[in-house]
Amino acid sequence: MIGRRQFLGVSAAGAAVVVGFDPSGRGWVTEAAAAGRPSFAAAPALDGELLLDAVSRQAVTTDLGNIVRRAPRAVLRPASVADIAKMIRFCRAHGIAVAPRGQAHTTYGQGLSAGLLIEMRHLDRVHALGPRTAEVDAGIRWMDLTEAAYARSPRLTPPVLTGYTGLSVGGTLSVGGIGGLVGGLHTGLQVDHVRALEVVTGTGAVERCSRHRRSDLFEAVLGGLGQCGVITKAVVDLVPAREETRTYAFGYTGTAAFFRDFRTLVERPGIDHIYAEFVAPGTAPTYTIHATVFHDAGAPPDDGRIAAGLSAEPEIADAGYLDYAFSIDRAIDALRETERWDEYVKPWFDVWLPGSTVEDFFHDLMPRLTPRDIGAFGAGLIYPQRRAHTTRPFPRLPRRDGSPWAFVVDINTVSPAPGPDPAFAEEMLARNVRLFARTRERFGGTLYPIGSVPFTPGDWRAHYGDRWPAFRAAKRRYDPSAILTPGAGVFGG
Ligand SMILES: Cc1cc2nc3c(=O)[nH]c(=O)nc-3n(C[C@H](O)[C@H](O)[C@H](O)COP(=O)(O)OP(=O)(O)OC[C@H]3O[C@@H](n4cnc5c(N)ncnc54)[C@H](O)[C@@H]3O)c2cc1C
Repeated sequence: MIGRRQFLGVSAAGAAVVVGFDPSGRGWVTEAAAAGRPSFAAAPALDGELLLDAVSRQAVTTDLGNIVRRAPRAVLRPASVADIAKMIRFCRAHGIAVAPRGQAHTTYGQGLSAGLLIEMRHLDRVHALGPRTAEVDAGIRWMDLTEAAYARSPRLTPPVLTGYTGLSVGGTLSVGGIGGLVGGLHTGLQVDHVRALEVVTGTGAVERCSRHRRSDLFEAVLGGLGQCGVITKAVVDLVPAREETRTYAFGYTGTAAFFRDFRTLVERPGIDHIYAEFVAPGTAPTYTIHATVFHDAGAPPDDGRIAAGLSAEPEIADAGYLDYAFSIDRAIDALRETERWDEYVKPWFDVWLPGSTVEDFFHDLMPRLTPRDIGAFGAGLIYPQRRAHTTRPFPRLPRRDGSPWAFVVDINTVSPAPGPDPAFAEEMLARNVRLFARTRERFGGTLYPIGSVPFTPGDWRAHYGDRWPAFRAAKRRYDPSAILTPGAGVFGG
């Protein structure tokens, strides 16, 4: 069957979209040439597909945030790493921007491109699994890797899993990957549990890198926002998985009482994961702690010991390990089915707070936080991260302050209704700019760059601080023509 895409697009080695005949040049004019830009007509032969048709391009003009729109001129559906290398070389020769797209769950255009967009989800194989590592394509979702690892005997799991696991391995390794439902108390971030990477750099070279081999590239791509290369494969840690989980939910109205118990629980032996939710004051409880113990069947934790000395009584819920690990995915799937979740505007605010100022941050924030700041389908979230296990220079955690902890705070704002809402986006982007300035200046916070905080090149230089020269040197070395991943505007966009 010949689909619409084949009528409007080009095959891997085929012709570009023809829009008219140029009598002076005595040739057919392609869409790109008509717009005065280099054409993809001379693109190399590929194993996969290069699509120029409007439908394929329009399908990838935005991300989960629905704030920034940028249509690429071409979409690559790679069938091999060689496809990515060839197209990056082609784009470099023609001065065309390139961005890899995982699941596009960042919210402010970080992964958009007006040039070539690479749909990484088409490379999603598990190449090797267990007993201590997995080698996977970067386009695979964490959920799929987790299911494959858990199906082994003995059962395995990544040591760190984001709350939503429908994210790509390459997408979270490019930002950091904090333990939304697994990891954080006794692990680093996902980037701390990577043994080796295969990367296609901005020159189109395919490189293997690790802590011991091309360590500058390894450092620059883990948490590196796609600036120095496209991660194509990753060797990631696996650890033994437990069969069951028990989660204790504690509710609070006051910031001080909440933090007293939160601080106690993050240090309490036997707890495997903990995070907290918050809402605007006025709705009880304002804060809810979720503390989880992983255990084997028939060996549940001692409830009395977990809850001892706290000021709230817990509600207790049991679940199998995978049911627990995929619980946020189920919630998001339900929102997709009932609420047109993907179409809401999501101007998210995500920051790291130093362990010594996180309480002050909340005492300052809460009197001004309104229900509109979060929205009916949004969330306020707090994740503790033990600093001793963080090893990578990027992402940028706050300056060390003597505390063993740093905290990620998310205000995952969702608009009142689905569909475009430029006024709401503008209002919340302005809030994010104000709130970020306050967070940085008063509380020593840094950006977790998954959300929608407008940043100038100067803000990025400040963000990287003393690591800026190393990051810029890696950019110049591995992406000398500065074609990779312009969305966040780190090097000027
Ligand atoms: C519901 C939800 C829950 C979340 N929970 C957590 C959580 O618990 N912990 C956490 O840390 N984060 C969480 N996030 C944020 C998430 O980790 C980031 O937004 C992540 O970047 C999304 O992955 P993705 O595959 O959608 O990446 P994309 O949004 O597609 O890409 C992110 C950036 O990385 C680049 N990129 C993508 N693939 C590659 C690659 N292979 N090589 C190089 N660069 C690449 C893109 O160009 C873009 O700049 C959550 C997000 C959502 C929507």
